[in-house]
Amino acid sequence: MLRNIITVDVEEYFHPTEVAAWAGADQWNSLPSYVGPQTRLVLDIFDQYQVKGTFFVLGWVARRYPGLVREIASRGHEIGCHSFAHRLVYDLTPAEFREDTSRAVETLRDACGVAPRAYRAPSYSITERSLWALEILAECGFTHDSSIYPIVHDRYGIPGFGSRARTLATPSGPILEVPIATVKLSESTVAPVGGGAYLRLAPYRYTAAGIRHINGRDRQPACIYFHPWELDRKQPRLARGWVSRLRTYGGLRSMRLKIERLLTDFAFTTLTTVYPAAACSPTPAEATHA
Ligand SMILES: [Zn+2]
Repeated sequence: MLRNIITVDVEEYFHPTEVAAWAGADQWNSLPSYVGPQTRLVLDIFDQYQVKGTFFVLGWVARRYPGLVREIASRGHEIGCHSFAHRLVYDLTPAEFREDTSRAVETLRDACGVAPRAYRAPSYSITERSLWALEILAECGFTHDSSIYPIVHDRYGIPGFGSRARTLATPSGPILEVPIATVKLSESTVAPVGGGAYLRLAPYRYTAAGIRHINGRDRQPACIYFHPWELDRKQPRLARGWVSRLRTYGGLRSMRLKIERLLTDFAFTTLTTVYPAAACSPTPAEATHA
């Protein structure tokens, strides 16, 4: 069976962009924290199904809970980087992005002894206007990035990027871009499959059919993601407005069951197991972004 990629963005329930408007960074230290128990639940579920995954940990979480990062690593999972402060890449200058990324790398390395090789931007905020970030990621030692969602969305996405992983050449070296799973329905329509709100809100059979399509017809692994807070129905509900509330809290009730069904029906592993660094060979024709 073809192995897919399971990834977990480790952050607090108050870090998602939909919630940030109601819980700014100045409040983070005083809000109740649940990331520890929520992440340990994910680790227990992965143990139960004997699955290893890639955990993109927020630097802010790693600084507060270095023991959690060590525990994720010691239970056999890969540690990736989810930025330090969950700021959207396209809202930052290149200098600010470099500073945030370096700080996150240092914090994660201090926590578990290994520098992360794989990066995921907050809210998939590497878009057409922030592709310059890939060069800085390569400069900071990253060999893999999974920050591009090839769909149309009001806040993120590069619809024309395509669904296949590919190596992009940057002036600081190559980086392998692994997009989140999508299924092409027609020339102009691409359906998101990979996770987050789409995974929570769509029926399980939709996600399963999408992965089967990607594995069977496209002969590709699917890259799936979710957050530990998505398994916690009792989390404080800070988001306001019906769109934000639906995107953040819709489908929480069935999420754990969906994840367990995915782990039962498909084979999953870490990002760099599916795409070892050795597989990175730059494709000059697709060179980007000085
Ligand atoms: Zn995030």
